[in-house]
Amino acid sequence: MSEDTPVKGEVLYEGKAKILYATSDPGLVIQYFKDDATAFNAKKTGTIEAKGIINNAFSTKIFRHLEENGVKTHLVKKLSDREQLVRKVTILPVEVVARNRVAGSLARKMGIKEGTEISHPILEFYYKDDALDDPMINADYVTAFGFGTREEIDIIMAEARKINVLLTAFFRKAGIELVDFKLEFGRINDEIVLADEISPDSCRLWDVKTGEKLDKDRFRFDLGRVEESYREVLDRVTEI
Ligand code: ADP
Ligand code: UDP
Repeated sequence: MSEDTPVKGEVLYEGKAKILYATSDPGLVIQYFKDDATAFNAKKTGTIEAKGIINNAFSTKIFRHLEENGVKTHLVKKLSDREQLVRKVTILPVEVVARNRVAGSLARKMGIKEGTEISHPILEFYYKDDALDDPMINADYVTAFGFGTREEIDIIMAEARKINVLLTAFFRKAGIELVDFKLEFGRINDEIVLADEISPDSCRLWDVKTGEKLDKDRFRFDLGRVEESYREVLDRVTEI
């Protein structure tokens, strides 16, 4: 490792898909990507071979693209196959979902067929709490429960919309439609930055020509070719 790479320390947190390690620099942590996969709030569990390696490479590529286009993120650098050095942030307990087409919980909630077009993108907030099954909330919940300020909500919504525009165009070049995705933001020195990951675990990615699903829905619904699909989307974005 190069001189400016801090030394890996203790496990700070082990989640469903990643492990966070402290480092010798208190402002930096290492994100380790596991092969473990969960769905339906961890009611379904399994492993997707090499997922950690694929998601690390995929997310690094996406975060770099976003940085190049003016989006502030936690990414410092990719360290190894499964590890990224990132800035340690205080994660806002709010998952931001952006949608460009009806799928998943939106289809179930509205009783509208998956794949139906919508006239403009939809942004949603969910309270990040596994015990409560990540309930949907709105901006008033965020401020009323002290999860974030009105100014932070405005920043997050503007960033999410910008990221949606950037990534829709980015994936289109790879012949992929960005149907929906989830973002997490963190606070660091009063600044809001994009954190966590963007990967086939957190996005719905459909082949533009065939409509084939190339994301975690293959695992959720036992559609087969799970590893192959993750690898295919990585290969396609690597070529961009
Ligand atoms: P979960 O907590 O839902 O099981 P993961 O297994 O992906 O999810 O765990 C990674 C955890 O690290 C998440 O809770 C995420 O919010 C958090 N996280 C992501 N990026 C950062 C960061 N830069 N600093 C601190 N925490 C982060
Ligand atoms: N998503 C996620 N983590 C979550 C919930 C959703 O990454 O805890 C992503 C999911 O992969 C999809 C989008 O957010 O790309 C919208 O998910 P949806 O609300 O449709 O929920 P789902 O049906 O996937 O549970």
